Amino acid sequence: MQHRALSAYLNPDFHIKHEAAKCVACGLCLPHCPTYELLHDEAESPRGRLSLMLALAKNDLPLNAKLESHLARCLDCRACEKVCPSNVAYGLALDSVRHLIESRRTTDTKPLNRSVRLIQWLVEKPIRMQILGRILRLYQGTGLQWLLRKSHVLRLVGLTRLDNAIPKLASQKRFSEIYPAHKKTKGRVAIFTGCQANLVDQQTLTSSIRLLCRLGYEVHVPPDQGCCGALHLHDGQARKATELMRQNTSAFADGNDAIISVASGCAATLCEYGKYLDNDVAAQRFSGRIMDISQFLAGISWPTGISFRPLPGRIAIHDPCTLTNVLRQEDKPYALLAKIPGAEIFSLPENKVCCGAAGAYHLAETLIAEQLRAPKINHLKRLAPDILVTSNPGCATFLATGLREAGLDMEVMHPVTLLERQLEK
Ligand code: SF4
Ligand code: SF4
Repeated sequence: MQHRALSAYLNPDFHIKHEAAKCVACGLCLPHCPTYELLHDEAESPRGRLSLMLALAKNDLPLNAKLESHLARCLDCRACEKVCPSNVAYGLALDSVRHLIESRRTTDTKPLNRSVRLIQWLVEKPIRMQILGRILRLYQGTGLQWLLRKSHVLRLVGLTRLDNAIPKLASQKRFSEIYPAHKKTKGRVAIFTGCQANLVDQQTLTSSIRLLCRLGYEVHVPPDQGCCGALHLHDGQARKATELMRQNTSAFADGNDAIISVASGCAATLCEYGKYLDNDVAAQRFSGRIMDISQFLAGISWPTGISFRPLPGRIAIHDPCTLTNVLRQEDKPYALLAKIPGAEIFSLPENKVCCGAAGAYHLAETLIAEQLRAPKINHLKRLAPDILVTSNPGCATFLATGLREAGLDMEVMHPVTLLERQLEK
């Protein structure tokens, strides 16, 4: 039943043909496509991929590893969707074709990426992420990481890059179900914590809750929520994606004013539940209340008496694709950080191009991901900001890894973490 609901939405016969038919092959999307710009191959462009999707849906081309690779190399950044004059819903077509590929998988198709499947398995249950967190914290806290780095063992066994990718982890925190508003309550909101934030970006959750309470909101953290399902959805895992969506729509069923995500990547998926489960009223209601934290904070009236400590520093802002191309709220972190006196805020050059993180993409298509990240690291090296901010923890982790590998010591954080850090208490 659950599987059928999402399958109906990702109906390749309808969606792929419908979206591909809207494409007039104008090519306006081509200069905006990171993979086309990098590989100079029509099959790596939005227009080319739409043709491949259509040929696959109509059985004009067989599914094989080569065709699947062209589709797999798409970042799902949706930069093409934003500039398309024909309003081709490229993201929908891509999710549909990945679902189609999964349903037709044979020995001729691309082998499954084990790292991506392992991450999917981990995020399906909070307990698995908790166990992973404990293991990684032991690795960092007992000095084992220091010892292995010092003795060059990691380099000898080829695990330096994996080790570099592990951020400094804080102890797992058990969040309360309700945080009361500071003084008078002006509203009631719920926080979507997702599957990873408590492990890799706990500070953003804590800062968001503190700031919301200070601004007069009672904050709810529903305990039964789970992963947003993005990793499964964009990999054709319709059954599991549906289960995760249902878990969240049920966890957030009560009537908060808004459901706030602290990760733009999660918000971009959560706000489309209503489309994916198009016959489900709870999913429609859920999606209608989703907001990215910066979007929410920039849209409310702030009480008087809130002020920020000056920050005489330079802050570079990275715009995640999900915030720019799906939520279309990329101006909000700029508006919020402008509240901090003395801070020089600037946009990271080439911000419209994906950084390469793209969910689990950097694990499956590492070479392309690193080629996309390299210019951003070079810009950061040249411009030397004191802090890099980004609204998506996946981008933050991937960029921070690139900075560590380049020997750059730079703070990377969510804009709301910085805002709350500067708040006059
Ligand atoms: S911009 Fe839209 S219509 Fe033009 S080629 Fe790209 S997808 Fe097709
Ligand atoms: S989603 Fe991004 S990578 Fe994929 S075709 Fe569109 S612009 Fe290119």
